[in-house]
Amino acid sequence: MRFELTILGCNSAIPAYDRNPTAQVLNIQENLFLIDCGEGTQIQMSKFHIKRGKINQIFISHLHGDHVLGLVGLLNSYALGGRTTPIDLFGPKDLEEFVTTSMRLMQNHSTFPLHFHEVDTEHNQLVFENNLITVHSIPLKHRIPTTGYLFKEKAYPLNIRPEKITEHQIHYSHIKAIKAGADYNDNGRIIPNAELTLPAMPTRSYAYCSDTMYKEDIIPIIKGVDLLYHETTFLHEELELAIRTQHSTARQAAQIAQQAKVGKLITGHYSSRYEDLEVVRVEASQVFSNTVIGKEGEVYSVAFKQKN
Ligand SMILES: [Zn+2]
Ligand SMILES: [Zn+2]
Repeated sequence: MRFELTILGCNSAIPAYDRNPTAQVLNIQENLFLIDCGEGTQIQMSKFHIKRGKINQIFISHLHGDHVLGLVGLLNSYALGGRTTPIDLFGPKDLEEFVTTSMRLMQNHSTFPLHFHEVDTEHNQLVFENNLITVHSIPLKHRIPTTGYLFKEKAYPLNIRPEKITEHQIHYSHIKAIKAGADYNDNGRIIPNAELTLPAMPTRSYAYCSDTMYKEDIIPIIKGVDLLYHETTFLHEELELAIRTQHSTARQAAQIAQQAKVGKLITGHYSSRYEDLEVVRVEASQVFSNTVIGKEGEVYSVAFKQKN
């Protein structure tokens, strides 16, 4: 069962060295979630074989152009293609005005319902859930209201031990309840659930944190996630610039990853001053060894971990 992140854009501000502005697609068991939508996102989707028609939810971090300038184009293409499936659009205040004003001025007649969900960028809140996952906001600190997103799978059902079905001749109509944790009544004898089942598969999680300056209070929110994307706009030698523009350095992102004890750190949102990203990897991995350089077209999968 898939849990994989594809990076479509990982540069900051303006495109450079064939790197695009920010966009990512998270595939959780064939549910596709688009996270940010910088200019060029549609072309990147085609290049990396993302089925854009399968995206029903779009999560926007903030209204800087490098995260949002591809959005109206994408929605326009959906309308041109005659899409009828609704889109849920999540993001900070003013996202709705940005989109609806653009659509109105273009006299774009949408063929599908567009549902806006304003995200409170000051608090950690549940913003979306379906039968598989929850998505919570992660309050970030940037020059304008900005939010990250935490994607978490919901608990899997317990695994029933096949031999116990035979032993107690359990009818299939009871299986669902047992998988949800119920005991079983075998002709008056109560068989505890723990005897009937094996632990469920562990859930997987992904935290997206871009753009933000170093912000320690996100650590409890992202604690123990399997995958963390944290922006690394600058190297630490540019700390002053990072503070002034409210971005993070590679070292700071790694410090967040280390304190939050995440599984893997993916870097990104690179300043155009860095053509070769090896310097970013070296700086971050000195603090947090399981760091990988975020690259466009790369797919980062999360496998099921064995429970200790
Ligand atoms: Zn940005
Ligand atoms: Zn920004």
